[in-house]
Amino acid sequence: MSQFVVFAGLTGLIVGSFSNVLIARLPEGESLVRPLSRCSVCGTNLVWRDNIPVVSWLLLRGRCRMCDSRISWQYPAVELACAAIWAAAAWSWGPSVRSLSAVLLASALLPIAITDARHYIIPDRLSIGGLVAGLTLAFLPGGQTPVSAVLGAAAGFGVLYVVGWLGEIIFHRPAMGGGDIKMLAMIGALIGPVGALLTLFIGALLGAACFGPRALRTGQLVPFGVFLALGAALAFLFGDLILEWYFGLLSR
Ligand SMILES: [Zn+2]
Repeated sequence: MSQFVVFAGLTGLIVGSFSNVLIARLPEGESLVRPLSRCSVCGTNLVWRDNIPVVSWLLLRGRCRMCDSRISWQYPAVELACAAIWAAAAWSWGPSVRSLSAVLLASALLPIAITDARHYIIPDRLSIGGLVAGLTLAFLPGGQTPVSAVLGAAAGFGVLYVVGWLGEIIFHRPAMGGGDIKMLAMIGALIGPVGALLTLFIGALLGAACFGPRALRTGQLVPFGVFLALGAALAFLFGDLILEWYFGLLSR
């Protein structure tokens, strides 16, 4: 069991390292395989020993080997976060479909949230990619059924599409990005229709708490994907508890 957790953690490190490539390249529309990783300041290609997750950053003390410019702490942070999530999923749920859904969901949400926070973009390759992965995963026994995954994707897409449509009528400007709609469809494919609606509910609450009145007044852009990502994580982990509590309140 502990070997399985270590193996999952190491896999998470590699996935985190790839996430850094996605975060850097997808918003710029660059290829994911070429050119090789290089320093963003001096352009020196990184050799294998500069590419080891976390370890290289520590050995280089966060600086480029050639030009000494700073390498963001975001690289090792994303790698460590990813490794921690993968290890935690393996530890909590063992080799199961629930573990697999957890790491898939988290590995899509993490780069989406960071990219949305920085560029207000949710790359299709992450949302649509996650959607396809979620629908595929539903064919494995032990998780949700394919019908539930399809209904989840439809619910996620449909509800945000309608919210965006109403918002445009009320506020006379685009209220919902297409990226957010595809992202919630992906979340629904992975955690089902109830999970998708819960995600939207929690995400809207958190988003309103952080940005609400100010964003409405000033028309400021809100990286809603960040809040949907938090909502999805909470819905995945505590969805049953939250629903139990909520319906408990209603039936009192
Ligand atoms: Zn450099």
